[in-house]
Amino acid sequence: MERDPLKQDICYLKGVGEKRAACYARLGITDVYSLLRHYPRDYIDYSNPVSIMEASPGETWVIRARVFKKGREQRIRKGLSVFKIFVTDDTADMTVTIFNSRFAAEALKEGESYLFYGKVTGNLLRREMNSPQVLREVRGAVMQPVYPLTDGLTNKTVSSNMEQALTFLKDGRNDYLPVDIRESYHLCGIVEALHNIHFPSSLAAQQAAKRRLAFEEFLTLQLGMSQLKLRNRKSTSVLISQPDLSPFFSSLPFELTNAQKRCIEEGLGDFESGVPMNRLLQGDVGSGKTMVAAALAYAAFSAGYQSVLMAPTEILAKQHYKTLSELLEPLGCKTVLLVGSMTAKQKAGAREALASGGAFLAVGTHALLQQSTEFQNLGFVVTDEQHRFGVAQRTRLAEKGERPHILVMSATPIPRTLALIIYGDLDVSVLDELPKGRKPVETYHIGESKRERAYGFIAKQLDKGRQAFLICPLIEENEELQLASVEEYCKKVEKVYLPGYTVGILHGKQKPAEKQKVMEDFAAGRLQVLISTTVVEVGIDVPNASVMLIENAERFGLSQLHQLRGRVGRGAEQSACILVSSHRGEENRRRLEVMCRTSDGFVIAEEDLKLRGPGDFFGERQHGLPKLKIADMVQDTRLLSEARGLAEELLAEDPQLTSPKHRGLRVLVRELFRQIPESGLH
Ligand code: ADP
Ligand code: MG
Repeated sequence: MERDPLKQDICYLKGVGEKRAACYARLGITDVYSLLRHYPRDYIDYSNPVSIMEASPGETWVIRARVFKKGREQRIRKGLSVFKIFVTDDTADMTVTIFNSRFAAEALKEGESYLFYGKVTGNLLRREMNSPQVLREVRGAVMQPVYPLTDGLTNKTVSSNMEQALTFLKDGRNDYLPVDIRESYHLCGIVEALHNIHFPSSLAAQQAAKRRLAFEEFLTLQLGMSQLKLRNRKSTSVLISQPDLSPFFSSLPFELTNAQKRCIEEGLGDFESGVPMNRLLQGDVGSGKTMVAAALAYAAFSAGYQSVLMAPTEILAKQHYKTLSELLEPLGCKTVLLVGSMTAKQKAGAREALASGGAFLAVGTHALLQQSTEFQNLGFVVTDEQHRFGVAQRTRLAEKGERPHILVMSATPIPRTLALIIYGDLDVSVLDELPKGRKPVETYHIGESKRERAYGFIAKQLDKGRQAFLICPLIEENEELQLASVEEYCKKVEKVYLPGYTVGILHGKQKPAEKQKVMEDFAAGRLQVLISTTVVEVGIDVPNASVMLIENAERFGLSQLHQLRGRVGRGAEQSACILVSSHRGEENRRRLEVMCRTSDGFVIAEEDLKLRGPGDFFGERQHGLPKLKIADMVQDTRLLSEARGLAEELLAEDPQLTSPKHRGLRVLVRELFRQIPESGLH
């Protein structure tokens, strides 16, 4: 049988030898097919060049200009030579600089015109362009692809390999989307889509191609996530039915919010279902997620099961331990702490209590994951601030029991529509209500000129017995410099801005024990002001802190600012957050305005997503979600929900995608989830 040319090794293409193949491998491209799936990240539209005069510096342009003079090669230092090419289009002149490529420089002939694409720098009188893409003339498609590259590969190489790869496509053979689906959703065929995504004949053709490929990707994602969910639906013997939670409720110092009660009910539903809970608890900062976990841990305890709660840092773990042990131990639920800084003897004691069944709740950090941590009868696993853990860690913890129930808590709210997809393998509970009496933190954006007034305001708060956070972003790349700049800032605060108050400092170079001490001093009120570089440990609870000042607020993402701000406004006092930023950009102003306007984490998350895009927002693969190549979860929401609807229909009809018609879809799912080996779908 004839071999499928798409499965041929990438070396099969002209000009691709071992060396180039190794470069391609770094991009995950090994065969012709994976090359075809390497989509452009952008296009250069050569159809509308601008004149040099019009090309304002700071932006990227296509310019048609004539070479009128060529400078000689200048050797700047070993390994760096520079060629200056002077071009003109009669409106103005421009200097084009080419680095380290005599070949590229020699290809440009005096008197000839070319299209130059690149970022224009310089000023109105002297325009420059460094390392432009150069095109002799436009032939065929006017939109040229710009590919994601790696060292050793140029855009030109990839483009020409791509042209050849496209010739291997045969109509009708390689389309994984069944034809009826293509027809009902008005999607073009794969051959047309791949041609037009790489070398579009027009903008409309490119858009149609993109729509088809994005739909395919969303559908694949959704199918895979739903299959994960189904797979996790195997039965468990951990059954906890009708637990009596009244001792727990009556020992609480406050009434639970309705949202907390609802989320506890949802969890209890899982507990008695015979299928392991696999649930995400989403809630804004301060919404009281810990109490939901505590109620469920108590339920597990009352049925004779052990629980474990893992937090990302020691400070957080210790805080949870304090809250939970004070609450649960009087009710008979023995609680142990397990963190790295404990002595070997202390750890051994905690582990012994868990292995023997003497303790019913373990609170700790990664130390919990060690093999030596064994449980007698683990029934319920909780991870806090999930975004800091990978899926693998969650799984490893769960493997310490036999199909225990799993609750994942996250304080990074995600718009509901997205949460369903992103956490496709989890059920979602939402805490959408803050405990009563919380006053939204008043938030202000100020420039440098109002700094003194801001410190005056802070001093007044301190005089009233309150405490303050001062947050500095990490400005220097270099850790030593960073430290120096924070220490300098600290001195200034002590001497100039807030003289006479007790000031503590928290930064990344401190030992855990040092950090712990500073945090404890602050929590106990022995320090009035806490200066922190590293984001103040997520989740830290110091209700007496009522004001936060954030320096260089433009350097933080919105969700991060929201997290930070959540450290204040935890007590009964009206709290304030001051965002200091002299950055003048319009976008920055808009972003900070969002912070001043709303304290709803969901709204902020949505804005943040729009501004940053999902890649940055979700921090890559942390969520156990494969990286999408072309579909955009934020922009293409309509397409996303269409694909979601279709996925549901398909799976209702054919849950394992075993029918011959769905074979192609199964291949796509396997391909996409290959990135996530622990999913088991590859
Ligand atoms: P987060 O959801 O950010 O993890 P926490 O669980 O740390 O929030 O709770 C924040 C604070 O609110 C804690 O001090 C907690 O004791 C308190 N709290 C939780 N639930 C309630 C409630 N129903 N009423 C009043 N205070 C509550
Ligand atoms: Mg928390």
